[in-house]
Amino acid sequence: MLKLIGKGVSPGMAQGKAFVYKDALLRDSELYLIDDSQLDDEKKRIKKAIDDVSKCLTIDAEQIEGKIGKQSADIFRAQKAILQDSHVINEMNRTLETKMINAEQVVRTVFRLLARRFRDLDNEVLRERGDDIDDLSRRLLLSLAGIHAHSLEHLPANTVLVARRLLPSDTVFLSRSSTVGVLAEFAGPAAHAALLARELGIPCVGGIPDLLETVHTGEVVLVDGTMGAVVINPSRQALQKHNKAFEEVRKRRETMVCVNTVEGTSTVDGIEVSVMANVRSREDVELAMQCGADGIGLFRTEPFFLSTKHFPSDKAFAMFLRNSLEPARGRHIDVRLLDIGADKNPIYLHLPPEPDPFLGRRGVRVLREYPDLLAAQLRAILEVSQEFGIGVLIPMVTIESDVVHVVSWLKQFASEMGIRELPRIGAMIETPAAALSIASLKAHVDFFSIGSNDLTQYTMAAGRENPLVAKYFIDDHPAILRLIELVVRESGTTPVSICGELAGRVDVILKLLKTGIRSLSVAASLVPDVKFAIRGIENKKGRKS
Ligand code: PEP
Ligand code: MG
Repeated sequence: MLKLIGKGVSPGMAQGKAFVYKDALLRDSELYLIDDSQLDDEKKRIKKAIDDVSKCLTIDAEQIEGKIGKQSADIFRAQKAILQDSHVINEMNRTLETKMINAEQVVRTVFRLLARRFRDLDNEVLRERGDDIDDLSRRLLLSLAGIHAHSLEHLPANTVLVARRLLPSDTVFLSRSSTVGVLAEFAGPAAHAALLARELGIPCVGGIPDLLETVHTGEVVLVDGTMGAVVINPSRQALQKHNKAFEEVRKRRETMVCVNTVEGTSTVDGIEVSVMANVRSREDVELAMQCGADGIGLFRTEPFFLSTKHFPSDKAFAMFLRNSLEPARGRHIDVRLLDIGADKNPIYLHLPPEPDPFLGRRGVRVLREYPDLLAAQLRAILEVSQEFGIGVLIPMVTIESDVVHVVSWLKQFASEMGIRELPRIGAMIETPAAALSIASLKAHVDFFSIGSNDLTQYTMAAGRENPLVAKYFIDDHPAILRLIELVVRESGTTPVSICGELAGRVDVILKLLKTGIRSLSVAASLVPDVKFAIRGIENKKGRKS
């Protein structure tokens, strides 16, 4: 038995089997020459890898078709067609026979060449195929390495995912039905892995050094995401203790969910607070409704755009939104425009690397430079807003023209589509500049939503994904609370909500209420705890009521 201590970044307890997530492409596989006696074996290895990956691609296509749509599923079907193309198979066999090198090197050689051929083409769409080829090569190498070639989506039930760090493009495929816990070497409370885990209601412990060298796939793991404790290969006693605590937590949650079915949440002295949920998929929206959320305060759209290899059409986005939002029909819903750039880059945009990505082009800055990307989203949102009362959130606003630009295009598309009633439009307040410019911004919007994660990183000058400056990333620092209070005060009658991770910290709710905040949006799984905490609070000195 081994105990590890990290930082609890998503609460709850779990027990499962470890799956250590390593990227095969990061490790250079060995190059060795083979002789005639090994030729057949290497051929069989290649054939088996092709068969395995083809099967996985078929499954991926089916699942993505159900979850997102046919257009996205076709990417996987096209990859399968390339993999089974006789020219590609012949090229692999020819390389094997002429160079007499091991299967891994055959895959690397053939697919590198193939990717280059696509990338040298004049046609942009075909050039993008280069990434699909790299992805195929990666899958084949995983299969040859004996690593079961599933994406994270196909993890077996009761998996505790163990990773160095998770990127948004990895996490797109995480599913609550298989992953019961997440351990990450690098993951502060505002890291994307932590955020996603909280939204899925999956306990997560981050900041565990040398994790990948310590835990092995298949080992039994106990996770306490509240205390930040992990036990590998627990003794019988440790297991009993864990099960007892797990049962207590489960009972407490059940009671809270029952309490939440009662409408409205107020403090002891009668201050009404709305508690909405942050979501990114239909699964999250369902969980939010089960947990008693008053609405959807933040629909993050990045996973949808990052999960496709080609630029999705407005129709595909509208279909995704309609399907995802159905469980929250009739509720307050705010959908955020795509917040990409920095660490989230869809491969089809080919955003060039920047020296300071978090201080570079992200959120609305990207949307202003890619008119098609903005147009597809606004058209889809306008279409869906006819059925659902949607608000549109503009991410990473810094200057007034960021908002003016989006609002003018929204009006233009609405008039082209013959839509008279515009959706509510809101600005994310995530930069100190925006927080200090409420007076001018409010002339253009219907509401504000404070993104405390970014507001903290930009105010405290501490990167939210950088564990080395974690002690500076203090999201309830008096400087942050003063900015929040200023936003509430200057906004006057314009509604203000807060949707960063700060909103879900039950230990800070009273301080937030004192700034005048009356609307919170938190990870769906936290809604019961936050509502429960509000009901026990007395806020005599609270501002606005
Ligand atoms: C925030 O910055 O607080 C926020 C809600 O946006 P995200 O975490 O998606 O950047
Ligand atoms: Mg943000």
